[in-house]
Amino acid sequence: MSDPVLPFDKLVLASGNTGKLAELQAMLGNAVEVLPQSRFVQEEAEETGLTFVENALIKARHAARASGLPALADDSGLAVDALGGAPGIYSARYAFGGDAANNVKLMDELRGLPDDQRGARFICVLALLHHADDPTPIICEGVWEGRILSEPRGTNGFGYDPLFWVPEAGRASAELTAAEKNGMSHRARAMQRLRERLGLA
Ligand code: IMP
Repeated sequence: MSDPVLPFDKLVLASGNTGKLAELQAMLGNAVEVLPQSRFVQEEAEETGLTFVENALIKARHAARASGLPALADDSGLAVDALGGAPGIYSARYAFGGDAANNVKLMDELRGLPDDQRGARFICVLALLHHADDPTPIICEGVWEGRILSEPRGTNGFGYDPLFWVPEAGRASAELTAAEKNGMSHRARAMQRLRERLGLA
């Protein structure tokens, strides 16, 4: 099949994460060249939004403005029902001490809660701006439903993966292989939606 015709052939990823860049480049195939934001600007955007959508847009706008190119940003995190959606957009800085401290705090907050009150989901929002002042961004969301464990399980992945029980797999996220997780995660789902919106799937 020939590559679809997209309205751009270069895209800036509003992230310095080389893993994310490779993942995105693989997903978009030869249709688009994905460039790291660091090629144009060193400062990161200040994430002042109150929602994943706002923060993804802020990051994409920052990268589009600095590069003069279309830009894609992602924002993701964990929303726990019993905590009113927290840690949410503050997932990375929940306990201000990295992944291990975040997981200890989450376990403590939910201690004693029965299984049926431990519902949670990972969210990933992708925002694509054709240019910095684009009033019609493409926004794609991916959601991965699960439950918070009372004790960590598994050693794969990162962040809250050891505490995230995945019912569809019957294992914790940190017990999944990278390939298994990449086939079902919030990020994979958001990316699949983006592929569909761009006519790539
Ligand atoms: P970021 O959007 O990549 O900066 O992720 C925000 C934070 O959400 C991370 O630092 C993790 O704490 C959490 N998070 C996002 N995605 C995942 C995941 O796939 N597994 C575990 N934690 C995640």
